Amino acid sequence: MGRCSRCGSYAINHHLHGRNGSRRDLCDVCYWRDIAETFADDRIELLQQLAMAEDAANKGDKARKVAQSLVDEVTDLRAELALSKET
Ligand SMILES: [Zn+2]
Repeated sequence: MGRCSRCGSYAINHHLHGRNGSRRDLCDVCYWRDIAETFADDRIELLQQLAMAEDAANKGDKARKVAQSLVDEVTDLRAELALSKET
């Protein structure tokens, strides 16, 4: 029986502790640690993508507000011009 490639332990029982037979180079503890870390990495990546998407959405929102205020300003100017022509 081999040793764990990560910690050197001999506690490698592929048929025990809910192992599915993969990662045969890891002991029982490192097997589950590896799964937990992979899961955590995936979640961190997802959270980063979500944060980036939110950031982009906020920027889009800001740009939309600026554009809207410009449109409002032009509309006001036009109304003022129309008024000054009338009088
Ligand atoms: Zn190990």
